[in-house]
Order: sequence, then structure tokens, then C-alpha cells
Amino acid sequence: MKGIIASPGVAIASAFVMKQTVVEIDMTPTANETERAEQEQLFRDAIAATEQQLNEVIEITEQRLSAKEADVFRAHLMMLFDPTFEDAVMEKINGSAMKAARAVKEATVEVADMLASLDDEYLRERAADIRDVGGRVLDNVTGNVRVSLNDLRDEVVVFANDLTPSDTAMMDMNYVKGFVTEVGGRTSHTSIIARIMGLPAIVGTGDILSHVKHGDTVVLDAVDGDIVINPTAEELAAAEAKLEKYLEHVRELDAVKMLPAETKDGHHVEVVGNIASPADCKGVLENGGEGVGLFRTEFLYMKSPELPSEEVQFEAYKTAAEALEGRPLVIRTLDIGGDKAADCISFPAEMNPFLGWRAVRMYFDRLDIIKPQMRALLRAAAYGNILVMFPMIISAEEIFKMKEIIEECKAELRAEGKEFNENMPIGTMVETPAACINADKLAQIVDFFSIGTNDLTQYVLAVDRGNEAIAAMYQPLHPAVLRAMKMVIDASHKEGKWTGVCGELAGDERGAVILLGLGLDEFSMSAGSIPTIKNLIRRANVARVREVVEECLTYFTTEEVTARIDKLIEEIYA
Ligand code: PEP
Ligand code: MG
Repeated sequence: MKGIIASPGVAIASAFVMKQTVVEIDMTPTANETERAEQEQLFRDAIAATEQQLNEVIEITEQRLSAKEADVFRAHLMMLFDPTFEDAVMEKINGSAMKAARAVKEATVEVADMLASLDDEYLRERAADIRDVGGRVLDNVTGNVRVSLNDLRDEVVVFANDLTPSDTAMMDMNYVKGFVTEVGGRTSHTSIIARIMGLPAIVGTGDILSHVKHGDTVVLDAVDGDIVINPTAEELAAAEAKLEKYLEHVRELDAVKMLPAETKDGHHVEVVGNIASPADCKGVLENGGEGVGLFRTEFLYMKSPELPSEEVQFEAYKTAAEALEGRPLVIRTLDIGGDKAADCISFPAEMNPFLGWRAVRMYFDRLDIIKPQMRALLRAAAYGNILVMFPMIISAEEIFKMKEIIEECKAELRAEGKEFNENMPIGTMVETPAACINADKLAQIVDFFSIGTNDLTQYVLAVDRGNEAIAAMYQPLHPAVLRAMKMVIDASHKEGKWTGVCGELAGDERGAVILLGLGLDEFSMSAGSIPTIKNLIRRANVARVREVVEECLTYFTTEEVTARIDKLIEEIYA
């Protein structure tokens, strides 16, 4: 059977099937005040018991994972005491004469349904959190005893319709080797916790509980997303080989991720991470990132109903800079528009938003947006190694105008006696054909380039990056894109400047090999890709890669490029 890979890995063990116990709910109404008072007390006692259990979960999570992961359950404690939930239950007990169990059950469903109906994927997934809390309270009202995954003493793969985040955090990984759930998505807390624990997991399989029995031997292949129930001897041998290969791969990546990204023949490059908030720095560093090559600041704007103030931004940038302890932190100014919207900024209706009033283009109409951001950046740059860059640049005028704005901000800060960095380096993203063609000019007026391959591909090829109907035409390895990137890298080197890539291509094995051959200096990617790319670079010989990539630049088709690079990657890993 197949499902969504929530957390990668391979496990072979016997099945532990968690069947939902159906709790009997007393539907009869209470008869009088005394009974209502009793039910109210039952509810209060259940809240107290739940509070105690959640504190235990927090303690175990802190020991096994970290204080940060335990925050999920601190949020559960807050939900437990959230007046919306409590008021709903009390109203049902006192106003509608429901017994406590029914009141808790209905109040949980109401709050969870409300969350589940929201547009925001993140908030929708929080419906699972409130069901977790409400389910605990209900168990405590009815005296239902939960199976604790902390008490298992055999090696198992857990199968369930759904697992709560607390079920997951309580799994003792000495015994639980992985889990499978019929429902769920990649961004639920259950999946996030599994990834942090490094526990293989597949979710969203649809009906699987009617196919698997307690004690069946199962193969959980969370590399390809397959589950095999009662495998044949042959399937079992294949799974064992796969598990061994996977473990070897993990050991290899673990061993190299903290080492420098240096090729066999001594060529050194930077491997850094992409982040969307200061908290993401931790994952970048843990995966061996040597800094941050792209902080997408639009997320500060997207989650707030009002424009984030200079102070809020200053704190965010300073926190990230300090977390990186002097390592480079490339911050991109607001890149809103195109497919990214924010409630705090109103946009005109446009025929072609990707070619419209977006990114740097809006700054000159909205100095009230760019100036507070620039002031916050200049001030935060006094606390770490901050570099700034601008999105969607098409011309030198835009850079000149940005430099004027920066000078104005500096003059204001000076007059106000505020501390800031006079020499914050200024770079530009290269995402448009115009920026590539004029790269020799732009290289003279900025300190560095960072190629946004996601957008560059769409603009060079005139292929919408989000349109599924033409997804096959969206080819970052198209010869035209490769040649455009070569122009940019060569132009920067001629001026003694450096070039990075912060689009998805840098974290892709094929892309990284090509970029290495093109002479790229900095590779910026999501934290999870860093170990793989570092490993690849460390195994490569840059002279050989350059030779092959040069050959690729003479090819006619993407297909030829891809085939040649795949062969080269095989050679590198051999
Ligand atoms: C890019 O376009 O490659 C890029 C890094 O920016 P974004 O994906 O945020 O548009
Ligand atoms: Mg972009």
C-alpha cells in the first residue's frame, strides 16, 4: 500500500494496530441542579487530570526531544484552559442539561470543525491538536484508559487511523520503529514531530487497518512511500538491504555534514540555508549550514494583519544574526506580489501578477513599507554579519534608487543617534533575463549576486512556475537557463564579486553539480538538503565536473544535459 512520506526511513517490525476504542457517551439529560453541579465537578476534575497528564508529556518530550518541541504541548495546555472551549462545555452542561461527557465531546467537535474550515493550512492542522486535548479530557471524564505508546516493550510499527501529536511524542523509539496513519498530511504536528525524532512515518494511506493485523510482519518503506504487509522472503530480503543502505547513507551524511564543502581537489564553496523566520536558523546550523543565503522576509508580513513595525523587524533580524554567531546572514527585502499576498498590503487587480506590481517595483510607491524595513536592517546589521539583497531587479536604476533610500535611512538614524552598520554589503537577486544580460553592469554596482532559479527559470523560459499544465516545460536545466547563469557567475567574478544560488536548484543534486561546474560560490537551500549536497560536493572533483559541465553548455536539449549529469553523479558516488 502507498501513502505520503511524513518522515523518511525504513523499518521492518511487527504491526501494532491501535483500534479506536469507542467511548460510550451518556446522552440522557441531567434532571436537576444537583446533577448539573456533579457534572460540572466531573468536568473540573477531568481538566485537572488532563493538566497533570500534559505536564508529564511535556517533561518526557523535553527529555527526549527538546524544550522547543515541548512547546506543542504547552500550546495544548493553553487550549485546555482556553475560555472558548471551557465556556462551550459549561454552556452545554448548565444551559443544555448535557452530561459532562457529551458536553466535552460536542464542544471539541465544534471548536475543531471551526478550525478545520479555515483557509489557512497551518490553522486547519491545529484542529488535530484540539481533538487531542478534547479526547484526553473526554477519557478523563469517562474513565477510559488510553494505550500508552510509552509502555510498548516489543519492536513494532504502529498502525492507527490517526495519531495525536502527544501519542507520537510519547513513543519510545527503542521499541517503536515507525508508524502509519490512515489520515494526515505532511504539515501536521504528528508529522513534524516524527521528522524531528527521525522516526520513519507514512501518513494518509486511506483504509489500511482492515488489511493489517496485530503481529503481522510489516515493511515500512518511507523512502519510496510503500508499506508491505506480510512480505515474501524475497521482499523481506530486499527491504533489509534497503534498510542497511539507508542507515549507511544516514551515517555517511551525519559524518560529513559538519565538515567544509570542499571538493576532492581542494575547491571550496559555501553551503548555507534558506529561512523564513529567525527560529529556522537552528535547523540550518544543525544540518551543517555555514550561514544563511536567503531570509525570505515576506513571511513577517504574511502572518500579520498590519505592517510589521520597524521594531518588530529589528528584533527578528537581530535574533537571526545573533543565532548565527557571526556567520553570514543574507536578508532579502520584502518580495510580495506574484503568487505571494499579504493582508497588510493591498494590491491592484492585475492581468499578469508575476509581471506586475511586485517586489522592488512597489517600494518606490510605498516608502512607508521599504524605509522601516531598511532602517531595521541597518540597525540589526550592527549585531551580526548581515548582507541585504533586493528581489526582481531588472535595471541599474532600481539599484541606484535603493542606494539613495539606504543613504536617507542612514542619515535619519545618524540624526536620531541610533546604532547601525555603515558598511552593510548590498547585493541583488538575479531572477530576470534583464539582470542576466546586464550582469556585467550590475556587477559593478553591487557587492554580490544571488540567483533565484525558481523565478529565473520561469522568466527565461516564459513558463509559469505554478501552472501544472505546463509543468513539464518548467526546466531549470534548460540550456538557456544554464547559459544565463554562466553569464551571471562569470560577470561577478570579473569584478571580483561572488555569486550564490538561493532557488531550489542549489539543493537539487543535478543542479548542485552543474552549479559547481559553472563556478558558483555559494549554495543556499532548505536545511534538510544541506548534508546531501555537502556530501556530493566533497565526493566530487571540481576539474572533472567543470569539464563535463562545459560540454553540457554545448548541448541542444535539456534531456541531453540531464542524461550527462546523471552519469556524472553516478561517477561521483561510485
Ligand atoms: C527564486 O525565485 O528562486 C527565489 C529564491 O525566490 P522565491 O522562491 O521566494 O520567489
Ligand atoms: Mg523569486
